[in-house]
Amino acid sequence: MSQILDGKVVGAAVRAELTETIATHYSRWGTVPGLAVILVGEDAASAIYVASKEKSCREVGIRSHTVRLPQTASTADVVAAVNQANQDPRVHGILVQMPLPPQVNETQVLAALDPEKDVDGLTTYSQGILAQGMPGLYPCTPQGVLRLLDYYALPIRGRRALVLGRSALVGRPLGLLLLGRDATVTWGHSHTKNLPELVSEAEILVAAIGRPHLIQGDWIRPDAVVVDVGINRHGKKVVGDVDFQVAQTRASWITPVPGGVGLMTVAMLLENTWQAFRNQTGLR
Ligand code: NAD
Repeated sequence: MSQILDGKVVGAAVRAELTETIATHYSRWGTVPGLAVILVGEDAASAIYVASKEKSCREVGIRSHTVRLPQTASTADVVAAVNQANQDPRVHGILVQMPLPPQVNETQVLAALDPEKDVDGLTTYSQGILAQGMPGLYPCTPQGVLRLLDYYALPIRGRRALVLGRSALVGRPLGLLLLGRDATVTWGHSHTKNLPELVSEAEILVAAIGRPHLIQGDWIRPDAVVVDVGINRHGKKVVGDVDFQVAQTRASWITPVPGGVGLMTVAMLLENTWQAFRNQTGLR
């Protein structure tokens, strides 16, 4: 039976440390990090995510505010909101909640974002920094995956890692981070053939696809470390991309869904905001 990579435990540890660090900083200098979230439209899931991010910020002492724009907002409207947050000295991190309505050009919006405040790590600058292995603000979910592995002291160097998914938000940066930690990385995606065979070779398997239980448990190599990033509605339940029931009988370590990577993503957003604050205020 697998051991659990517990996002609740690790996320709470990250938050507790941040809460203390931010409180200590405030008592000395009287300043706190600020996060602006730009929410366009009325997507129900996005509204829930944003509310939970606001709550998490409050809990650790980050000042957050949400800029709400209507579903009909144009690209220029969203770019104007980004520019305003770029100029605001109380804002150190900016997050544009995705997805944007179809009439809004995501590329133009991200191009407007000051890379120093790019706490989601989605600008071309941030992605370039990551590709070059330089320090910077990296996307939150991939960072959260690494933090989970590190917390449980699971080795990465020299391991065969298979990352399923190649999005700019998760799969692509995650593979690069694992490469930076000396894993032997393979990416799988929608055109990949022989998925069961590839999965059976992976010592570290990360699934970031968005298809409920696409990865069957008996494909998994015995003793593999399995990280399931997928969040899929399945009837009334939320499930991952991996068939957890069978996978947990083979893997050495596995993330539950929910209770795994999702909690780490929010924790890493808070940490990135603190990091951006430190960079902008010259703290080291
Ligand atoms: P996306 O739709 O942008 O990318 C999905 C990727 O899956 C693509 O790169 C595609 O090539 C790949 N893919 C599709 N079919 C495949 C197949 N048969 N085999 C292998 N790869 C295949 O999605 P995303 O934004 O990267 O998110 C992926 C999943 O992770 C979703 O379920 C999303 O909800 C979840 N997610 C979770 C968190 C979290 O905090 N836990 C954060 C972001 C995304």
